[in-house]
Amino acid sequence: MNNTAITQFRDTGTLYLSAPEAAELVRRLGLPHCLQHMAEHIRADFLRWADFDKTARVAAHSKNGVIELMPVADDHRYSFKYVNGHPGNTRLGLSTVMAFGVLADVDTGAPLFLSELTLTTALRTAAMSALAAKTLARPESRVMALIGNGAQSEFQALAFQHLVGIEALRVFDVDPAASAKLVANLKGSGLQITVCQSTAEAVHGADIVTTVTADKAMALILTPDMIQPGMHLNAVGGDCPGKTELHGDILNAAKVFVEYEPQSRMEGEIQHQPADFAVTELWQVLRGERAGRDSAEQVTVFDSVGFALEDFSALRFMMDSAVALGMGEHMALIPQLADPKNLFGTLGRVEGVNRPTQPAAALPG
Ligand code: NAD
Repeated sequence: MNNTAITQFRDTGTLYLSAPEAAELVRRLGLPHCLQHMAEHIRADFLRWADFDKTARVAAHSKNGVIELMPVADDHRYSFKYVNGHPGNTRLGLSTVMAFGVLADVDTGAPLFLSELTLTTALRTAAMSALAAKTLARPESRVMALIGNGAQSEFQALAFQHLVGIEALRVFDVDPAASAKLVANLKGSGLQITVCQSTAEAVHGADIVTTVTADKAMALILTPDMIQPGMHLNAVGGDCPGKTELHGDILNAAKVFVEYEPQSRMEGEIQHQPADFAVTELWQVLRGERAGRDSAEQVTVFDSVGFALEDFSALRFMMDSAVALGMGEHMALIPQLADPKNLFGTLGRVEGVNRPTQPAAALPG
């Protein structure tokens, strides 16, 4: 970290981007720009895969869902994301996926940027899906089936429109209100949208199939009878032990690509496959070290679970954009000390601290 950055952090504290400000940032830059640049940031970081200290995320599972911490670092920057996955949350008026995260300086440990990551996760997941499809799907793909029309869905749709060239969507959700919301949100996008009555109907005639459903179950959203030669499957919703979307025979007949293999073996569609089931990490294809699709007839699967490096890339993009636009607010997340050894000084003098200004008896409980 250079001296200017140290001085700035010491003087002004951590840059904080709230959820409303992140939404405003996306409105100002435009969603296609954000998706495009997030995909480029992800690609740039995946191309220097070996530079990163990588680990599978740390998950705390419970009856209703999971809470996860996702750390990653290179020699300069460290990031982590806090994220949950609770499929029943929408019934309580809460999002299934909620997230925030930090980008920090490795040399000093200074937390430079604290950001909402719920909206940002939807953007980065869509950008990642589009990057994978651009690499793996048949270039002439124009029709996508989109199964699961919840919080992530419009971002997936628009990333595939702007980055992959998708022109028509065939959508299905067990909740018709979710599909109606998607249609309303995407009005004026230029996408031709057909609402279907079943997954099989939606998948029929599609070049690409995106599954982005939420259910804490080994679901069979896609079965082998629905799959046509040459399809690319973007399997986003299966991202946790015991939470998958594809029938195993689809994987057996396809070429499967993952983000970070050790994590995908635990969390991805491939969790049910034997330990020697062959997969390719996407960074190897991006770097030209391994082949992507081998033929026009081959079925390719991007077994997406969401890897910490994508959030690292997303945090870089959001921080740089916030700084360039003068957005976000500086906050004293860490005490700002004239003498860094005098932490006690933030409390004042000991006589004062020992005598409470708010007697405990006045507090509840
Ligand atoms: P959400 O709850 O807002 O939407 C999920 C939708 O799936 C709901 O509308 C629900 O009705 C629908 N659905 C459930 N079962 C279905 C079925 N059998 N057929 C059709 N539709 C069905 O959730 P979200 O935020 O959109 O997230 C969707 C999924 O994506 C979650 O499982 C989440 O964990 C996962 N996710 C993955 C990544 C990643 O990087 N791979 C990132 C973010 C979210």
